[in-house]
Amino acid sequence: MKDTNKDTNKDINNIVFMNKALKQAVVALKKNEVPIGAVVVDKNGKVLARAYNKTENNGCQAGHAEVLAIQKACKKLGTWRLDDCSIYVTLEPCLMCFGLVQLSRIKNLFFGASCGEFGSGIGQAKEHKLYFRRINIIGGLKEIESVDILKKFFKSLRKTKKKKKG
Ligand SMILES: [Zn+2]
Repeated sequence: MKDTNKDTNKDINNIVFMNKALKQAVVALKKNEVPIGAVVVDKNGKVLARAYNKTENNGCQAGHAEVLAIQKACKKLGTWRLDDCSIYVTLEPCLMCFGLVQLSRIKNLFFGASCGEFGSGIGQAKEHKLYFRRINIIGGLKEIESVDILKKFFKSLRKTKKKKKG
């Protein structure tokens, strides 16, 4: 039998939107931020917001790409309720961002790379009562590209640190 669910995961639109999130990650990389990008899309496939991680620039952990993208999308729609919207993010959201995604009533969460250390441990977060909402979570979309850009960043960071020490 055909695995239709798997087909949906690799849906061409999902790839297109994840590529847009990756483009945001590239912008972050150029600005010496940890390269993570996010895009919020409405149910008709219209892009509502794009954002990249600005933690260093904003001097605050609330500068995560998902937070900024959700803020922009809410502003655009004039409501905090992002029912039927989807978010595409290049790295598995942290607990803060996953909470925000859930509270914003986003329907679908797509992410690229998994994040062991800082990821929300989405499986467990799903069990949390506050966040007991149905949300479709699909990871591993454009995973290789999402990981590569992070590796690139941390590699250059190590080089810079070595130079400073040297
Ligand atoms: Zn986060």
